Amino acid sequence: MVNSTKSGLLFIYHADLLGYNLGAEHPLNPRRLELTVKLAERLGILDDIPIIRPREVSFEELNTAHSADYLNAVKRFSLVTDDYEPREAARYGFGGGDNPIFPNMYSASALYTGASLQGAEAIIGGCERVVSLSGGQHHAHWSQAAGFCVFNDPVVAIKRLRQAFKKVAYVDVDVHHGDGVQEAFYDDPTVLTLSIHESGHHLFPGTGWVADMGEGAGKGFAVNLPVAPYTDDESWHYVFEEAALPILQAFQPEVICLQMGADAHYADPLAHICLTIQGWLKPIEAVVALGVPVLALGGGGYNLDNVPRMWALATAVVLNKPLPTELPSDWEIGAKNRAMLDPEPVEIPGPLISIAKTTANATVKEVKSRHFPIHGLSSDSKVNGA
Ligand SMILES: [Zn+2]
Repeated sequence: MVNSTKSGLLFIYHADLLGYNLGAEHPLNPRRLELTVKLAERLGILDDIPIIRPREVSFEELNTAHSADYLNAVKRFSLVTDDYEPREAARYGFGGGDNPIFPNMYSASALYTGASLQGAEAIIGGCERVVSLSGGQHHAHWSQAAGFCVFNDPVVAIKRLRQAFKKVAYVDVDVHHGDGVQEAFYDDPTVLTLSIHESGHHLFPGTGWVADMGEGAGKGFAVNLPVAPYTDDESWHYVFEEAALPILQAFQPEVICLQMGADAHYADPLAHICLTIQGWLKPIEAVVALGVPVLALGGGGYNLDNVPRMWALATAVVLNKPLPTELPSDWEIGAKNRAMLDPEPVEIPGPLISIAKTTANATVKEVKSRHFPIHGLSSDSKVNGA
């Protein structure tokens, strides 16, 4: 158990986390994390913040989110990285471009999962806000790797939080649907999973429809907010503020696990949403402003110019630090723009903005009609614009 720090704030990081390396050509480059920490340090965001080194999570702890069969398979593959049976690997989601088998895969994955679990334990110990950017690997399933994720650290962390708190909310602003986390709590009314993402019609993992709202006692406690490609700040905020925040407030969580994937930015190479840095930050500020303890994790985000800026700013928001406005004078990555925020939104053709707005309106309307009554909210508020 990690004791509460004096300030109630904590950052979890160690260079060993950079060992989660899926290969030189893979988009999930550990440089994202390394550069973020370097930038946050240079900007003074981590001054006076305790930084702890994570431990590897145990087999038993992983077994709360994954089958023993899968965990043993990951162990086996880690020992024979270049001599495995491709069909067996494929059965567990490995091989191919997204989830290659790499050296020390088991222990590197157990370490980032341990970082998130220690964040949960710190919150149980009395910390108010914890940032652990190596986590947020939301696609891994019970018995399969998926979408660059070997172990589902948010699930392990939330299961631990549930041992101490009655109600936990999971909020996912990654551009991809948080499918693995949703699955783990699909019939559980004590864990609200809420994901805003680019529609599965256009993007991996092809799930996350409004109608997928949980089952059994958990019906209404899985909330999906799909948006169209080219969605801008305005429509993204509209969906989050009109549909997500009221449910989150009505649920009254005792703690929030916040997945801060940074891939909804307009310059991200893997998706098609067009947020600015400041637009991406706004829902994170809104979640933190709710005033309940927050365990903030990382996630996707593949543009090395922007991800360090976005995560450094989000870290400042979560850790109650003033937001820096400029990059350090000698910072060279993405230095064409010296400001921390984007100077202006990207230009999007009018018809695409209009489609995105229509989709945003439809999502809000459907969430209001399906979910709001379950949470005691009125569903008759007006929908904006065209
Ligand atoms: Zn993502």
